[in-house]
Amino acid sequence: MSERRVRVRFAPSPTGALHIGGVRTALYNYLFARRHGGDFLLRIEDTDSGRFVPGAEDYIIESLKWCGIKIDEGVSVGGPCAPYRQSERKEIYLKYALELVEKGWAYYAFDTAEELEALRKEHEAAGRTFAYNHSVRTTLPTSLSLSADEVAERIKNGHNWVIRFKMPENEDVHMVDIVRGEVTINTSTLDDKVLYKAADELPTYHLANIVDDHLMEITHVIRGEEWLPSLPLHVLLYRAFGWEDTRPAFAHLPLLLKPEGGGKLSKRDGDRLGFPVFPLLWKAPTGETSRGFREDGYLPEAFINMLALMGWNPGDDREIMSMEELIESFSLENVSKSGARFNPEKAKWFNAQYIKKKDDEFLADILSSQLKAHNIEADRKEVVKVCSLIKERATLLTELYDLSNFFFVAPESYDEKTTKKFWKNNNPAAVSAIASLLEASSDVTAAAVDKLIHEYIEQNALPMGQVMNSLRLALVGESKGPGISDIIETIGKEESVARLKKAVAVLGIPQEA
Ligand code: GLU
Repeated sequence: MSERRVRVRFAPSPTGALHIGGVRTALYNYLFARRHGGDFLLRIEDTDSGRFVPGAEDYIIESLKWCGIKIDEGVSVGGPCAPYRQSERKEIYLKYALELVEKGWAYYAFDTAEELEALRKEHEAAGRTFAYNHSVRTTLPTSLSLSADEVAERIKNGHNWVIRFKMPENEDVHMVDIVRGEVTINTSTLDDKVLYKAADELPTYHLANIVDDHLMEITHVIRGEEWLPSLPLHVLLYRAFGWEDTRPAFAHLPLLLKPEGGGKLSKRDGDRLGFPVFPLLWKAPTGETSRGFREDGYLPEAFINMLALMGWNPGDDREIMSMEELIESFSLENVSKSGARFNPEKAKWFNAQYIKKKDDEFLADILSSQLKAHNIEADRKEVVKVCSLIKERATLLTELYDLSNFFFVAPESYDEKTTKKFWKNNNPAAVSAIASLLEASSDVTAAAVDKLIHEYIEQNALPMGQVMNSLRLALVGESKGPGISDIIETIGKEESVARLKKAVAVLGIPQEA
C-alpha cells in the first residue's frame, strides 16, 4: 500500500464563492501532494443541482490559480480519469449503487417526501426524533419489506425510488484519522443514508465521493472537519465495495474560527469586522458582491503563508515561509486538532512583510495604475523610486496611492491639527530660510539636503523635531511620508522650493514668533 503514488483531491461543490477555509483545504492537499511527489486533483462535486451556482466553478479555478496552487489533473486541465465533474459522470454511479443492493449492503426505498414528513411529525409529537434506520426499514415500503415482484413493479412504474445504505446495527466502527488519531463510532447513532436518487438519476455526495475516490486512485483524503461525521459511513462503504485494501487515509482539518474564537468564521464576521473571507471578489448571480483578499490589496504569497499557518506549524518558530518552504516542511502530523482563529491584524502583518520584499518595478506597476485611475501622469522612474521609499510603510497594495500621492501632486490644503501643533514659533521662518538655502544649492541629493537642513537647524539652535514637522507639513500637507530629504530629492529642487514657499505664503509667519 505504501508503494502507491500519492494522489489527493480537492473536491469542492460549486455552491458559491470559495471560503478561505476551502482554500486552506486545497492548499494542504497541494502541499502534501508536492511534498510526496504526488498528484493534486481538482474534482467538482456538483451532484446537488439544487445548490448549484453558475460561475462558482470558474471562481474556484481562478482562486487556485491566484494562490499558485497548480492542478495536475482535473476540471480545466483534464487527465486520465476524466471527466472530473461529477455531473458528467452520471452513468457511472447507478452501477455501483446496484452492486451494493445486490450484495445486501443497500436497499430500495419507495416512500415519498410527504410520507416521510408525516412520519417525522408523528415522531416529534411523541417526543422522539425520527431516524431512517434498522428500526423502520422493514416496516416502511422498501425492498426489505416488500416482495420481489412488488419491488420490480414499483421500480418499473415510478421514478420516485431511492437506494439507501443498510447501516449495520450496533456495531463499533474503528477509524483512524491522521489528525485526530483513533475514533470509534457505534452504528446505532447513524441512519441509512440515501446513496442514489432515481428522480434525478444522480448519486448523493456519499456514493459519488467514495466511487470517485476509488476510481481516481486517491490515497489521502484531506478535508474539513465538517465531514468527520460522515467518516463511519465512508469507511463502511469501502468495506461494502470490497475496496478496503486501497481505502485512502483520512485527515480532517480543524475549523477556521472567528477572530474572537467560538464558531466558524463566516462572511458575516468579515462584514462586521471589515475583512474578506474569500480569496477573490465574488459577484453572486443574485447581484450581491463579497470582497476578496486579492482586491483588498493582499499578495497571494502573503495570503498563502498566513493561511498555511492557520492550523499547521512547521515544528519550529518560522513564520515567513515561501510556497517552496511550506512544501518542504509540510506534514499532516503537524496539523492541530483544535480550531484556528482568524486574525485580521496578523493577515495584514504578513502582507506588509511581503510588500517590503517585493521589487520596486512590481509595485510600480500597481501604483501606476492607481495613479492613472486618479488621472495622474507620472514618470515611470519616479514611480519606481517612490515605491522604494514607501514600501516599508505599506500593509496593503491598495494603500500605495494614499501613501504616495503627495509625490505627484502638491498639497492643496494643510492639515489643521498638524498646522496648529507645528506652524508656530521660529518654525515657519526656518521653513522660509531653508527654502532659500535649497534654491541656492546645486546639490539636492538626499544626503546633501539632509546636511543642509541639519546644519541650518544646529546653527540656529532650533528644535529639530519641530522644524522637520513643519517642513513635512509644507511638502506633504499632513504628517505622513518617508524622510524629508528623500521627498525633496524625489520631487526635485524646483518643486520642493515652490511647495515650501507656498506654505509660507498660505499659512503665513506668525507674529508672536
Ligand atoms: N464536496 C465536498 C465539499 O464540498 C467534498 C468533501 C470531501 O472532500 O470529501 O466539501
